[in-house]
Amino acid sequence: VEKQYLDESSERKRLYNEVIELKGNIRVFCRCRPLNQAEIANGCASVAEFDPTQENELQILSSDSSKKHFKFDHVFKPEDGQEAVFAQTKPIVTSVLDGYNVCIFAYGQTGTGKTFTMEGTPENRGVNYRTLEELFRCSESRSHLTKFELSVSMLEVYNEKIRDLLVDNSNQPPKKLEVKQSAEGTQEVPGLVEAQVYNTDGVWDLLKKGYCVRSVGSTAANEQSSRSHCLLRVTVKGENLINGQRTRSHLWLVDLAGSERVGKVEVEGERLKESQFINKSLSALGDVISALASKTSHIPYRNSKLTHMLQNSLGILFSSQWCVYFIVTYTGGDCKTLMFVQISPSSADQGETLCSLNFASRVRGIESGPARKQA
Ligand code: ADP
Repeated sequence: VEKQYLDESSERKRLYNEVIELKGNIRVFCRCRPLNQAEIANGCASVAEFDPTQENELQILSSDSSKKHFKFDHVFKPEDGQEAVFAQTKPIVTSVLDGYNVCIFAYGQTGTGKTFTMEGTPENRGVNYRTLEELFRCSESRSHLTKFELSVSMLEVYNEKIRDLLVDNSNQPPKKLEVKQSAEGTQEVPGLVEAQVYNTDGVWDLLKKGYCVRSVGSTAANEQSSRSHCLLRVTVKGENLINGQRTRSHLWLVDLAGSERVGKVEVEGERLKESQFINKSLSALGDVISALASKTSHIPYRNSKLTHMLQNSLGILFSSQWCVYFIVTYTGGDCKTLMFVQISPSSADQGETLCSLNFASRVRGIESGPARKQA
């Protein structure tokens, strides 16, 4: 039995190493959606070019007919479906069962498919549901060796306020939630509902409930544009039945608000305020990533709720240059991070597409050591 466990675990490690060129713990997958009906009707051309023999490269045609070349850990073409995306994501998400913290986030302009990738549709479910399904499958197959407990929290960061999506606040004012540091040094949100889940039945209903509560607004760019960051947190508690060792790790699945700059979408009033808050948290995320990349001693996690909450997952290891050296050399990093950079192929979105791809290239440039298991 133990051999089966070890085989399975080494198979997952092999897949993880094979699927992704192992360079650090930050992976970047690019996903390009198909041109939509409106774009086709308006005569927009596709500016994204893919080489059928390369699975990790793409080119964007510039207005001066030059081509800008990008390389990521994987590039999903418009025709790649949810299954193909999850096949590449699976080895990363299942490592939460081995005690790793994992953070997956979808970044990009509104309308590029962030929600499609993470949430999906009832017919075409995305990474969130597929992940839970896979975690149940794996935990069941290992139940004779490890007892797993899975629970789910869902929250939204909207205008720098945290809202619990598993609580129906329609009849009363929402409870005020804040990020607090626990005695163990992890970031927690006291009072957040943590719903234990036992099998796939019910998980979809729970997710649907959360998605419903999530606030949506309307902008010129997208009628159902999501103006909030939506975070799904899966907590995995494991108890090894052979040696009694316990682990507790978090998997964050994050659908970020649109990354477009204000001005592109014609917004005013409430919508303008939302856009400013979104810009604030996304630029805080950018600052954290830049600070991590340049290995400076101060990482500005606390500049927004989003980065503060993800501190243990996103932020990986580097609290100072010395720390980087120490951790990478002696202990390995803390967490596995995957960013989906979502893009539109349309000539009309070329500027935003280049911004997103440049940001994603910066993220990919962050070096990190091997992830560290949580005790
Ligand atoms: P975002 O969350 O980035 O604002 P959405 O996920 O809402 O974008 O996607 C916008 C629209 O494009 C939706 O109607 C969605 O179903 C569709 N879409 C996005 N990505 C794909 C894809 N890869 N294949 C097919 N349709 C897609």
